[in-house]
Amino acid sequence: DGEPVAGDTSRHRLTVVSGPSGVGKSSVVGELRKLEPDIYFSVSVTTRKPRPGEVDGSHYHFVERAEFDRMVADGRLLEWAEFAGNCYGTPREPVERALAAGRPAVLEIELQGARQVRAAMPEARLVMLMPPSWDELVGRLTGRGTESEAAVQARLAEAERELAAAGEFDVRLVNADVGTAAARLLDLITGGDSSAADI
Ligand code: 5GP
Repeated sequence: DGEPVAGDTSRHRLTVVSGPSGVGKSSVVGELRKLEPDIYFSVSVTTRKPRPGEVDGSHYHFVERAEFDRMVADGRLLEWAEFAGNCYGTPREPVERALAAGRPAVLEIELQGARQVRAAMPEARLVMLMPPSWDELVGRLTGRGTESEAAVQARLAEAERELAAAGEFDVRLVNADVGTAAARLLDLITGGDSSAADI
């Protein structure tokens, strides 16, 4: 069980991207998807109702709570968490299939889920996407306009909690510009710059 040789990316085939709501995870991961078609991007199940424009099976698998609970009970989720009143989870089988085929896999999930992945798969690389500043994050979250005031407040409280855990992550990646952040993420996944912790 030796150390991987320099440039070996097999240790890090699973990449977890976390970060507070509004930091731009979806945009950065969406940009990454355009850059590298060989990466497997997990599609989560959620009990949240679709937002305008979200497509079932593409952005999420939208399910009822009873079905979500069944998936948990059957061990079909790699990790799952309750976030701002809804449940979210990563279907296990497609991720394992991608990794077995040698494809890198990317999960875009929140903090509790990232911790479960760390515990279950210590070789996974955990990346926290950081806002350039707290004020910037508040501006992005309130400007989105798709959530009620109460939902925005709940997400801000969660955001503060998530950012406080940044030190648990292997890499902290500041999202000042979506294209730059996506390029850095791709570089991490494909093996370049693997030692940087704050980028
Ligand atoms: P949203 O409702 O804004 O799409 O997502 C809310 C939060 O849930 C985001 O931080 C998102 O990354 C996270 N999330 C999405 N899918 C999953 C998942 O499968 N597991 C976990 N733990 N979090 C998820």
